[in-house]
Amino acid sequence: MSRPHFRIKKNEEVEVTVGKEKGKRGKVLKVIPEKERVLVEKINLIKRHTRPGARSRQGGIVEMEGPLPISNVMLICSKCDRAVRVGYKILDDQRKVRHCKRCGEILDK
Ligand SMILES: [Zn+2]
Repeated sequence: MSRPHFRIKKNEEVEVTVGKEKGKRGKVLKVIPEKERVLVEKINLIKRHTRPGARSRQGGIVEMEGPLPISNVMLICSKCDRAVRVGYKILDDQRKVRHCKRCGEILDK
C-alpha cells in the first residue's frame, strides 16, 4: 500500500489526463485530501439546481466545478509547458521540493 500523495496544491495549473475533459487545463481551486479529489477551475462543471431560499430569492441553475479524482490531473511544468510527472528531492538546505521528472525544473519556489 502506498500512501496517497498530494503533489498538487491550490492555485497551481494542472492538466486533465483522463476522461472526457482530457487535455484541458485549469487552475486548482481546492484540494480535498481526505477524499483525494480536486476542484479545477472550469473543469468538470456540473449543474446544480438551486431553490429560492435564504441565499437567493430566485433559484435556478448554477454551474459549479465538480470534484475530480486527484489521480486524473497532472501538474504542468512551466518550462516544458505540458503535464509532467513530479518527483521530490531534497535541496542542500534540506528543503523538500517538487521537481519535473522530465526537465528537472524545480516546481516549488
Ligand atoms: Zn519540465
